[in-house]
Amino acid sequence: MSDPKPDLAELEPAELETVVTGLGAKRFHAQQIFRWLHRRGHERVDQMTDLSQSLRAQLDAACTITTPSVTDRVRSADGTEKFLFTLGDGRTIESVFIPDTPALTFCVSTQVGCAMRCGFCLTGKMGLTRHLTAGEIAGQVRVLARELDLQDSRFNIVLMGMGEPLHNYDATMKALRLLAAPEGLAVTPKRVTLSTVGLLPAMAKLSEEPWIPNLAVSLHATTDRVRHELIPTSRQQRIADLINACRRFPLKHRDRITFEYVLLAGVNDTEADATRLVGMLRGLRAKVNLLPLNEAPGIPFSRPSDEQVDRFARGLARGGVNVSVRKSRGRDIGAACGQLIIEGGPQRTVAAAP
Ligand code: SAH
Repeated sequence: MSDPKPDLAELEPAELETVVTGLGAKRFHAQQIFRWLHRRGHERVDQMTDLSQSLRAQLDAACTITTPSVTDRVRSADGTEKFLFTLGDGRTIESVFIPDTPALTFCVSTQVGCAMRCGFCLTGKMGLTRHLTAGEIAGQVRVLARELDLQDSRFNIVLMGMGEPLHNYDATMKALRLLAAPEGLAVTPKRVTLSTVGLLPAMAKLSEEPWIPNLAVSLHATTDRVRHELIPTSRQQRIADLINACRRFPLKHRDRITFEYVLLAGVNDTEADATRLVGMLRGLRAKVNLLPLNEAPGIPFSRPSDEQVDRFARGLARGGVNVSVRKSRGRDIGAACGQLIIEGGPQRTVAAAP
């Protein structure tokens, strides 16, 4: 049975006002509560010291607060830190803090596992356990900001942890509104990047939102055959349709769409691929972020040499494409792209090496 009590961590400011006034209290207390939860990262009503004892007792009786709790924390030699969060139902997810990209960045999860099953991604091997709630998605950020004492700093958020954000559309959008609220952490959409495998109906919906995060699209191939092989869930889709959807995606002045392109030795890293990619992106306000594969046991691909990565990047640059190579962070602690997976315990579903 689901808990009928409202979860305060899940409510937008206007919803919180309804709960507070429903208890007979003044509307402005909603702002105080939102601030304690989202700005200060507190998780208990008794920590909200500017509320009266009686309002605290009422809230305690009538509501819950769901906060993911940090149950492990590992620091990489390069300063990247990986956090293991345990959720209310005992499921676990991972988030990563990257201190210098050059900004401070939180990489957060939107699902427990992922249903997209990309052949080179460890999270994909887990399959999808469940969607996260908006409170759990935003909760990773408010807890990390508190743990790292960054509540008053500027930071970026990338939805590139476990999961496909557009497959959990409503909760992801609500989480972004919770994070953007001025009473909370006030992370504006300009500082948020949503990375998607390219779910077209959801991309169309996203383009109608009142505010839109930066968009990163996982392209990963220049022919339908290779893309269908790497991303089984893209089999109903043609690259041309994805690119056309990107052409229609609304961009503000000077913004660009990022195309992520994982480089797999001998699979999608040839000169012909570079040439096709240049042609495909002609006229699009785009940049390409190359992701040399982070290898892992059970992943049947290998990472191209640095020289090959460089050749591919120069091929794109020669064709006029704005290109960068993602520096892999936190590989020694399994915190790099595609390395997030819960090892050990009931969720372990890592495939054996072929
Ligand atoms: N579901 C979203 C977010 C995935 S994580 C999406 O598909 O875009 C962010 C990026 O890391 C994606 O481009 C993803 O394809 C890539 N990635 C996954 N596994 C990787 C690996 N082993 N090495 C390098 N990049 C990887």
